[in-house]
Amino acid sequence: MNREVRVRFAPSPTGPLHIGGVRTALYNYLFARRNNGKMILRIEDTDSQRFVPGAEDYIIESLKWCGIEIDEGVGVGGPHAPYRQSERREIYLKYAKQLIDAGWAYYAFDTPEELDTLRKEAEAEGKTFAYNFEVREKLPTSLSLSAQEVEERIARGEQWVVRFKIPKDEVVAMDDLIRGHVEVNTSTLDDKVLYKSVDALPTYHLANIVDDHLMEVSHVIRGEEWLPSLPLHYLLYRAFGWDDTRPQFAHLPLLLKPTGGGKLSKRDGDKMGFPVFPLFWQSPTTGETSRGYREDGYLAEAFINMLALLGWNPGTEQEIFSMQELIDAFSLERVSKAGARFQPDKAKWFNAQYFHRMTAEELAPISQSVLRAHGIECSDELAGRAANIMKERVTLTTELWDLISFFFVAPNEYDEKLVKKQWKGENPKMLAEFKELLLSIEDFSKENTESVVKAWIEEKGFSLGQVMNTLRLALVGAGKGPGMFDVTEFIGKEECAKRIDNLIKSVTPLE
Ligand code: GLU
Repeated sequence: MNREVRVRFAPSPTGPLHIGGVRTALYNYLFARRNNGKMILRIEDTDSQRFVPGAEDYIIESLKWCGIEIDEGVGVGGPHAPYRQSERREIYLKYAKQLIDAGWAYYAFDTPEELDTLRKEAEAEGKTFAYNFEVREKLPTSLSLSAQEVEERIARGEQWVVRFKIPKDEVVAMDDLIRGHVEVNTSTLDDKVLYKSVDALPTYHLANIVDDHLMEVSHVIRGEEWLPSLPLHYLLYRAFGWDDTRPQFAHLPLLLKPTGGGKLSKRDGDKMGFPVFPLFWQSPTTGETSRGYREDGYLAEAFINMLALLGWNPGTEQEIFSMQELIDAFSLERVSKAGARFQPDKAKWFNAQYFHRMTAEELAPISQSVLRAHGIECSDELAGRAANIMKERVTLTTELWDLISFFFVAPNEYDEKLVKKQWKGENPKMLAEFKELLLSIEDFSKENTESVVKAWIEEKGFSLGQVMNTLRLALVGAGKGPGMFDVTEFIGKEECAKRIDNLIKSVTPLE
């Protein structure tokens, strides 16, 4: 059977989306596009305790920034709407009851206090308490109580949950597209809660399986942390009689700390000064803020390129990939089993590479937004040209203003050290003369100005360094910037003369 490829990204809105989550979304997207399939965004918000306002919008905005397009789901709609699980709540009870009727699940009435006591008793004996075949018939459940009592308890309004009845001592054989064949004995599993009467909501396991089935998901591509849930999910498909359409699973390797050991966390980012979230985030409850790649000056394309290679490799030396190239090259076979170590410097390297490869036209919108933020109005052409001259030196967008500002604003102060070094001896007089030379040049193009100036320097017996450094002091105010003829051409003859006059007026020559 040739099944349509349908994948889903199913985040829980419990806070900002970690870059590991972005990578999961990206791999789903690449896989969907590669296979002419559909990408679904489902919001798994059934854990009301962990719900964080604003997190869903954050997720959607992050995906948008990254260029990960959603075909069906929250914010887009589609044939299986709604795609937010809290809006599908009435669906799940029916399925929970179906499992109870078929003997695959049961009602449990035990209270948290009772469970706590059992847990403590087990601990006292050096064991860990597990809710499983050993205890489920000794506790107040529909397996130990009469049908009538179960009904009465429910009618009285007692709190209950539905638990899955894990079979005793059976082997669940599973296949994962990344990890291969995996087998687990069911006696190591516990009877997970599927549904809770207290908030009339399913837990992750039930809602996730029911929705993947109803939404006709063909492949589940998700983080490694969900691998331990896979036996339960396999059993759920069997219990529902959905084995034939069970999706294929692929569990992605963890993103590891830069030091190697353990999962990459926000704390690692804080400690080493790099973001672990795509966008800036402020917690609505604590006010705590987290840095984001976007606000830190990364380009979405570079960020995505970097993430794509954390756990997947193309099998070639190629490192720079556009989204389309990633789509064309992507396969789950080339996703590694081993965790991928996050390297903050590599993220910067990718960003710089993207800047270096951009044309003036591509740079224009980025440059424009930086200039506008500093109150500069200019044409796209000029904005792009300025950034294009300096692009080899840019790593992050946040550095751009410092690199191009002198193209648009005359210096209002002068670097002291440079003044001491250059503004002495014959230089002030030389610069005044030099101004006249510039004003006399007809064709002010970089090339022509350069040859006229060089001839003049030779004729006058000055050194090139002496003239250029003094000119730099006047035009830029500091010992930075590109070649001086890039600057003269860009700002034009009149502006050059004005800046030279400014320097002469505002700084007294040092004798
Ligand atoms: N809601 C789960 C999460 O937040 C989804 C896991 C899955 O993809 O099955 O990661």
